[in-house]
Amino acid sequence: MKKFGLLGKNISYTFSPTLHNKIFKLYDIDAQYEIYDLKDESLMKDFLKDLKQKSILGLNVTIPYKTTILKFVDTISPEVQSIGATNCIKFENGRLIAYNTDYFGLIKTFEKMDLNLKNKKAVILGTGGAAKAAIKALLDCGAIVFIVSRDKIKAQSEFKDIPVISYDELSKTSGYLLINATPIGTNPNINVSPVNESIIQNFDFVLDLIYNPQETLFLKFAKNRGKNFENGLYMLISQGVKSEEIWNEKEFNYEKIYDELINTIYK
Ligand code: NAP
Repeated sequence: MKKFGLLGKNISYTFSPTLHNKIFKLYDIDAQYEIYDLKDESLMKDFLKDLKQKSILGLNVTIPYKTTILKFVDTISPEVQSIGATNCIKFENGRLIAYNTDYFGLIKTFEKMDLNLKNKKAVILGTGGAAKAAIKALLDCGAIVFIVSRDKIKAQSEFKDIPVISYDELSKTSGYLLINATPIGTNPNINVSPVNESIIQNFDFVLDLIYNPQETLFLKFAKNRGKNFENGLYMLISQGVKSEEIWNEKEFNYEKIYDELINTIYK
């Protein structure tokens, strides 16, 4: 039996086992996906050594270890190099290779939304890990990227090559795609949006990386204004499917897995 898992801290809430077990079932893969709740980073070295002995093939990584685990890997993929974080490790002949499948999940989501980003302006709200993956994905699709931060000066010192604007400046900005990469609007605080409805009017497409609730207030605004919009579920599912593709060295049908899971999640 193949072994995979998710490493993080306080992650009992995670949807990952449901997702990966669905893939195993659909594709008849004899595998097991476990949750590894690690209380402290100081335990990581021994934990990874133990996993190697247990012949694990792949590990997803979540908060707070997406960056700290990089100290222990042997090879870093180009997208991890650029983003500075990993969420997917492959164990190959005793060596650890780090990937960032959130990045691939975003590229898949852009495809699902049928976006043509080349030379189009894309604006990202927030400057955290998800925003970093979005910057790389958008740049690789040829977009012109802007980020919006509550602290423009601090953010500009971190993102040297990307223009940072304030929320005030955003109100005078228009563009092709607006992405919410902040946690504002996530369950249970669902009656808030990172921007008001008039901002959304200035964009053609709207993407919220939040997937719970299914329709955030931010997306309700997009719907009211007749915009094309998408929530974060396709990204979430795609990052998991891409992880399985990397680990198993085979291709899966993203749409089929999404269709199977959407009703389980939003029942
Ligand atoms: P994070 O590291 O906490 O960063 C979020 C960013 O949002 C911060 O850097 C901050 O930017 C801004 N922010 C935080 N609190 C805010 C507030 N009260 N008001 C306005 N802005 C605020 O989070 P993350 O890991 O990047 O995740 C961001 C969102 O994406 C979360 O909702 C997460 O669930 C979602 N996500 C979804 C997927 C998926 O697969 N669908 C994957 C990853 C993440 P400034 O301080 O610069 O304003």
